[in-house]
This record gives sequence, C-alpha cells and structure tokens, in this order.
Amino acid sequence: MTGTQIHYYFLCKRKLWLFTHKIDMEQNSDDVAMGKFISEDSYKREKKEIKIDDIVLDFYDEKAKIIHEVKKSDKMEETHIWQVKHYISVLESKGIEGVTGEIDYPKLRQTVKVELSDNDRLRLEEIKQEVRTIIDLPLPPGVINKPFCKNCAYYDLCYI
Ligand code: SF4
Repeated sequence: MTGTQIHYYFLCKRKLWLFTHKIDMEQNSDDVAMGKFISEDSYKREKKEIKIDDIVLDFYDEKAKIIHEVKKSDKMEETHIWQVKHYISVLESKGIEGVTGEIDYPKLRQTVKVELSDNDRLRLEEIKQEVRTIIDLPLPPGVINKPFCKNCAYYDLCYI
C-alpha cells in the first residue's frame, strides 16, 4: 500500500479509488507539479529518495532513523501524519526499530515530528483494511463537493 493511498483515504475516498484504478490525471495538475518542485528544491543537496515495497521516502536519515517527508501544503493536516506513520510501520515490518518521522513544511517553515504508538499501529491496520474495502468496490464512491475539489486533478472527471 502506498503513502499516496493512505493520504487519499483521508482526503477523498473517490480520489483513492480513481488513483488506485490507474485513472491517472495527476500529471496534469499544477498542484502536483508545484509539490514536486518544492520537494526537489527543498532537498536539492541531500535528496535521496528511497523506495521500499510500495512506498517512496523523500529522504531517510539512516543514522538518526528519521524519515523526512516534504509537504508543499500551507496547512498541516492529519493525513500527512498518517502517511508518515504508515512509512514508519513499513520500516518496522522490515525489522528497523526506533524510527520516527519529520514532516517539513517549507511554505510554513515548520517541522512536525511523528511517532508511531501502539494505538496508532492498531488504527493503521483498520485504515489499511478500510482502504482495501474501498478500492475493491466495483465503482468509485460519490463526489464529495468540498472546496478543495476545484484544485483536484480529477475535477473535470467528477464535475464536468
Ligand atoms: S474532485 Fe473532489 S470528489 Fe472528485 S476526486 Fe477530487 S476531491 Fe474527490
């Protein structure tokens, strides 16, 4: 399961379904392009993406055991935290203990620290089960009519 799927689970279940079923319009989104630019720009010197199973870490500090995730958003959101908790749990599943995370918000010039508690592990399993249930649906869930739909890569598909 990818970090993006966890992220979309919180953001919009329809988006989760469309993305997972490879209805991929993300490359057309200015938002996504800008996110990539900020991510690359912020870590130009130390950028070292690491792919483990289905996840891609922006940067992993092996010595300090810290996962760094860069978010271009100007708002801190719960979904970002769960995405990083998911990454920590994937590293744990590989036998790497004591990992924490840091979410860097270049626009806000802030960093949020992330840890994975026992309760989080249980909740994460529930979330992953719910993700599987959603992506197994024969049709996508309905549109959610949120203000941020206007900036979504699937806007045309959902509303036009
Ligand atoms: S436009 Fe709105 S309803 Fe459609 S996928 Fe995006 S966030 Fe979900």
